[in-house]
Amino acid sequence: MSTPIGATLRRRVTLPVAFGLVGDKRFALLDDVLARDTWSPAQVRNHQAERLSHLFRICRDHNPYWSARFEAFGVNPDGSDPFAELAKLPVLTKDEMRANWKQMRSTHMSESDMVHETSSGSTGMQINFYQSHYYRQLHAAMEYRSRMWMGVEPGEPYLSIQANSAHVNRKTKMLRSARRWMENCYILDAFQMDPARVREQLLAARKINPVHVHGYTTACTTVAEIAQEAGITDWPSVRAVSTTSERQTEQHRKTLGDTFGATVYDRYGSREVLSIAMQCSEGKHHIYEDVNIVEFAPLSDVGDALTATIITPLDNEAMPLFRYRSGDEAAAIDGTCTCGRTLRLMTGCRGRICNNFITPDGHIVNGTYFLYYFYYQEGYQSFQFHQTTEEHIDLYVVPDGTLTQERMDYLKQCCDKIRADSNDQFTVELHIVDEIPKRRGGKHLYTISDVLRHI
Ligand SMILES: [Zn+2]
Repeated sequence: MSTPIGATLRRRVTLPVAFGLVGDKRFALLDDVLARDTWSPAQVRNHQAERLSHLFRICRDHNPYWSARFEAFGVNPDGSDPFAELAKLPVLTKDEMRANWKQMRSTHMSESDMVHETSSGSTGMQINFYQSHYYRQLHAAMEYRSRMWMGVEPGEPYLSIQANSAHVNRKTKMLRSARRWMENCYILDAFQMDPARVREQLLAARKINPVHVHGYTTACTTVAEIAQEAGITDWPSVRAVSTTSERQTEQHRKTLGDTFGATVYDRYGSREVLSIAMQCSEGKHHIYEDVNIVEFAPLSDVGDALTATIITPLDNEAMPLFRYRSGDEAAAIDGTCTCGRTLRLMTGCRGRICNNFITPDGHIVNGTYFLYYFYYQEGYQSFQFHQTTEEHIDLYVVPDGTLTQERMDYLKQCCDKIRADSNDQFTVELHIVDEIPKRRGGKHLYTISDVLRHI
């Protein structure tokens, strides 16, 4: 069991030393980003201008894709008003990113300074990209910053509801075990949930006295529902619950708050643009403007009061993105917040939401499990998994250009793997299509289940 002294030691000594030994600067960066919480709007704006000018110059000198775009649109990297220069660029779409991502890598950094990442974003539209190690360490610091907004110190025990079996390789498992031990974390697998096993895991997790519960929105909510049904609702140590990666509805919020007896927070970020906004204790979403420039653009296919979020992350020199349309919708909010932070406000975000898939024997497979099959893949424009009955899933795939035999074979292997992971309880049928019908608001869901869960 952790003690306050144990948590303080972790925060002040164990974690900074351990990460420092492997060259990870997240704790030094944490002090930097925490100091920004008291910045005035003018300080934030000056910092944005400096970072933006720096990125423009990096791209002019070391990024063939962006230097050509600057020429084409008359962007002056040395311009006195970098915001005006940024506004000359058109919105960057996922289609453009998918077509050009290899040319969008900056040449002044070696491959060992960056990682290749991948995302299905909020719409099942596959993209690949690069992120510098620095950017990812900054994000780790931002994650800690978000926890501290919830009154949670790094090193205090927490329950994490995340992928922990399928799609997790041996190296990741080893690193995660080390981190889990250092951070005092209990991991509950978000992908394959057997309600009986979840009940056992919840009882085990409660023994570490977690102060914080976090994970994918639908997975956390499913765990909370199982906890309620089993009467495991006594969580005196929990101070905060936070969810990410998916939209958080009022119903999710209520279920999580009722189950864990704590304030529920929504964190908005994505795999490609890591930390975008965080809800404070007053329930307002503050935009992390010190690491991004966020615009809200009216777009015809959104069709209501919400607008498209357009993001320029300021710290990823490996592959800068200027005016990137994330695929999520939200809107700016005028006014200030009583929490005292001056970072601008936005609404919650209408991003993706995953359905749970249910096996005939009652196991729950979170929709996020399926999107991992398209991680690090090329040649697919979009996809959708649709569970039509307890035993059957249709997989629809829109190829990006010609579908090669190799890619076709990969898709067939995916179907076989899903079948095997479900102990042959699902049949999976592959459909190659030209288009996947969109739902209201111009979005398509990439995981849909018509099967409801019955306990
Ligand atoms: Zn606030």
